Amino acid sequence: MPQTRAQKLEQLRNGHPEFDIVVIGGGITGAGIAREAAGSGLRTLLVEQSDFSWGTSSRSSKMVHGGLRYLGSGQFNLTRDAVRERERLMAEAPGLIEPLRFIMPHYRKQFPGPGLFQVLLRVYDRIARNPSRQRLSPTETLQWVPGLATDDLVAASGFTDAVTDDSRLVQRVIEEAEADGALCLNYLQADAILRDEHSSAVTGVQLRDTVTGGQAFTVNARLVANATGAWAQALQTTPTEGSRIRPLRGSHLVLPFSRLPVSCSVSLFHPQDRRPVFAFPWQGTTVLGTTDLDHENELSREPAITREELDYLLQISQTLFPASGISENDIIATWAGVRPVVTEESPSGKPVKPSKENREHVIWYDSGLVSIAGGKLTTFRLIAREVLGKAHDLMPDFSLRENDARVFSPVAELERPESISHRNWTRLQGFYGPALGSVLEAGSHDTVPHSETLWAELAWAAAHTCVVHLDDLLLRRTRLGLILPSGASEVLPEIRKVCQPILGWNDDTWDREQSRYLGIWQSSYSLPAVGGDGK
Ligand SMILES: Cc1cc2nc3c(=O)[nH]c(=O)nc-3n(C[C@H](O)[C@H](O)[C@H](O)COP(=O)(O)OP(=O)(O)OC[C@H]3O[C@@H](n4cnc5c(N)ncnc54)[C@H](O)[C@@H]3O)c2cc1C
Repeated sequence: MPQTRAQKLEQLRNGHPEFDIVVIGGGITGAGIAREAAGSGLRTLLVEQSDFSWGTSSRSSKMVHGGLRYLGSGQFNLTRDAVRERERLMAEAPGLIEPLRFIMPHYRKQFPGPGLFQVLLRVYDRIARNPSRQRLSPTETLQWVPGLATDDLVAASGFTDAVTDDSRLVQRVIEEAEADGALCLNYLQADAILRDEHSSAVTGVQLRDTVTGGQAFTVNARLVANATGAWAQALQTTPTEGSRIRPLRGSHLVLPFSRLPVSCSVSLFHPQDRRPVFAFPWQGTTVLGTTDLDHENELSREPAITREELDYLLQISQTLFPASGISENDIIATWAGVRPVVTEESPSGKPVKPSKENREHVIWYDSGLVSIAGGKLTTFRLIAREVLGKAHDLMPDFSLRENDARVFSPVAELERPESISHRNWTRLQGFYGPALGSVLEAGSHDTVPHSETLWAELAWAAAHTCVVHLDDLLLRRTRLGLILPSGASEVLPEIRKVCQPILGWNDDTWDREQSRYLGIWQSSYSLPAVGGDGK
């Protein structure tokens, strides 16, 4: 039986353990570092101020991609690394990282035309050593994408990338780190980095429990990894004078699949600003994304879509699928995330256009504190290994585990229960890996209506994954709050029956948690208020 959050916290407060590394931030970057560190034998602590994956890593566009656009801008090495990681992740955790077909329709007089795009795809395929490139005639394109706008359609290009559930990806990587001995705690904030007053070398971190707000306490560490993404400069100033973290918001719309049934990701250049945007199938819905603009609100508040972004995203369906008649009334939910981009002050003093900012990760180091910002879901393992390169300076006998060591342990060998479809079984194997047996024993194998989520997944998450608030369960451990109408309000009474006893909440606690969850859903995952400003 894994430890509860309270038991882990008790162990940390009273055990005075020494750590080789403390990782601050429970997004994909922090999870990846904790996974590689613990796998390499380091005594590892990971702390997250809110819930695991609460930051950008539950709010991305969910693509595990090789970065075709980087190839277009000549960043060959970035594409090569990302494509190889994509292939590796798909091979290690099918069902969690799944291939997704992309179709890029080409319209007359649009750049890039099919000829040039096919050249890029040829290179992309060669790097992946897994050919997926296809050139489609307009008639073939319509077989792939019924209802697509056909005026001036000259051809389409097809290729394969991959898609995931970003939050589950983080959670699984954390579970792997824990299996190798890491201690990982949510709702524990790093308030300060402690340094030796003479040498200024890092000695530890001051922590505070954000659930009880209790007294701060300290832990000792030889190396601290500041993997706080958009928050990174609160703990360490950025690497060069004039550089800063520029938070850029990207928002998404979730639609019923029946209203926009796409079996692949369909891309286009947005008519307003020529940025690449897409519609893709995800967990039984269709998602439209994404925007890219300065996020000026406080980072402590959950980001939310604005009306301007909503109109921009609706234009995707109106341009690509003019007959679909999609409107605001069709939207099930929305989500917005903040990209942690490190920017340099431009010589003119005018900021560059958000879409022109470099998204490559940046790592900077000072006397035992290493900070990371930027990057992608796809390359978390490589980023982690780069960060741990700094451990050599402090721990000369440290050796990083082999490059071919697996991120994900193999799946438990189990027979598929007849009531679970083949497709859902593959997903469950990828989502839970070695824990699948325990998930299946946790509850009913029936699915929550209008979703693929088993009641057993909810019950297991409530029992085993340090759930503190109802929003942890409905927005991140499962995505029911994003894929069912009105934040899954209709099934909340059933969810209560299953989860309240497991969580050990009395009626008052449940009622309080339910209104907290619905408040968060309303302000950050639904439609913007009329005249709303991103809240
Ligand atoms: C709209 C959008 C779409 C994207 N789409 C894709 C995509 O399709 N594919 C892809 O590969 N990448 C995508 N990205 C990029 C990718 O999502 C991010 O690069 C990645 O999630 C960043 O992870 P992270 O762990 O560095 O940051 P986060 O996930 O933000 O994690 C940082 C964590 O640190 C915590 N924290 C902050 N301060 C403290 C503190 N003092 N103490 C403890 N914890 C703290 C925060 O609460 C947060 O949870 C997208 C990004 C956005 C915004």
